[in-house]
Amino acid sequence: MNNSVRNVTIIGSGPAGLTAAIYTARADLVPLVLEGEPSSSSDQPGGQLMLTTDVENFPGFVEGVMGPELMANFRAQAIRFGADVKTEKVTKVDLSAAPFGVWVGDPDAPVPTFESRAIIVATGARSLLLDVPGEARLLGHGLSTCATCDGFFFRGKPIAVIGGGDSALEEAIFLSKFASSVLVVHRRKELRASKIMQDRALANDKISFLWDSVVTEVLGDDKLSGIEVRDTVTGTTSTVSVDGVFVAIGHAPNTSLFAGQLDLDDAGYIVTGEGTTTNVAGVFACGDVQDHIYRQAITAAGSGCMAALDVERYLEALGK
Ligand code: NAP
Repeated sequence: MNNSVRNVTIIGSGPAGLTAAIYTARADLVPLVLEGEPSSSSDQPGGQLMLTTDVENFPGFVEGVMGPELMANFRAQAIRFGADVKTEKVTKVDLSAAPFGVWVGDPDAPVPTFESRAIIVATGARSLLLDVPGEARLLGHGLSTCATCDGFFFRGKPIAVIGGGDSALEEAIFLSKFASSVLVVHRRKELRASKIMQDRALANDKISFLWDSVVTEVLGDDKLSGIEVRDTVTGTTSTVSVDGVFVAIGHAPNTSLFAGQLDLDDAGYIVTGEGTTTNVAGVFACGDVQDHIYRQAITAAGSGCMAALDVERYLEALGK
C-alpha cells in the first residue's frame, strides 16, 4: 500500500506534534499525523501529558486542566481543520532523499507505507528507569512510572517515589491522596524540584523523605514488597517495605528511529539549526525530542508551531 505522496507527515502527537498539525491543517496542507499506539508508558498518543493530572501552568486555563483532556482538545482541534490522524506507530524512516519514506507495521516491507515531501519529527521523550535488579520483573506489578494510571491501586498503602525533581514531587503529592504514606527517596540532600513544589511536598503530612539514598534492588517475586536502599554517605544498606514504587527520575528522547540519519547530540536529542531545521532539508524537529532544557507543554507547542511555519515555507519554496 503506497499512498500518494503527502505534503507533510508528523510523527508524534504530544503538544508539539498536534500544534504542528493544527497549523499545517489550517494552511491546507492536509497533514498526516502518525500519533503512535496506546501503551502504559508515555510512548502513546498524546505523549507525556497523558500521564499527568492537573496542568496548572498551561496559559488560558485559569483553574488548570487535566493533561489527557488538554491533549484530547489538541487532537480534536487538529482533526477539525482536516488533519489525517492515524493510530499507528512508525517502525522505520528513510530520510536519504525526498519524498521521504515512512513505514508502519513491517519495517522490512519493500516499499514505505507513506511518502512525504516534508517530515516533522515530534516523538518526544520518555521516562527513565533505574536499571536495578527486580525493576523489569515488577514493572506493572507494583512498580510504575505513572501515578495517574496506577495511583488508584495503592489506596491506603505505603508507597515510595524515586527522584528529587518536579516529576517526583508532583507524583508524591498526587499519590498522597491515595496512599497511607509516601516516602520520597532521593540520591542527594537537595531537591532539584522548583520551590513551589518543594513547599507543597514538605507541607504534606503524608510525605516524608529519605535523603542521600539510592535504590539498589526492587524486592518481591511476582508482587512488589519493598526496595533495598543504600545510604550514599555511610554505605549501609537497608530494606524499606512498601507496596508500590513510582520511578520519576527524568526522561530520554525517543530518537532511535532517526539514529544515523539525523544529527543527534551526546544525550540523543535531535540537533536543530535555524528554527526547527535538522541536518536533512525538509525534515524538521520540534518539542521534547530536540529540547532538553525547557521541556514544557507550552514550549513544545510553541516549537510545533515553528515547525509548521518552517514546513510551509519549505514547501512554498519547492513550488508545491
Ligand atoms: P529532572 O528535573 O531531570 O529530575 C530528575 C530527578 O531524578 C533528579 O532529582 C535526579 O537526581 C534524579 N535521578 C536521575 N537519575 C537518577 C537515578 N539513576 N537514580 C536516582 N535518581 C535519579 O526530571 P523531571 O522531574 O522529570 O522534570 C523534567 C522537567 O519537567 C523539569 O524541567 C521540570 O521542571 C519539568 N516538570 C514540571 C512540572 C510542573 O511544573 N508541574 C512537573 C513535572 C516536570 P539529581 O537531582 O541528583 O540529579
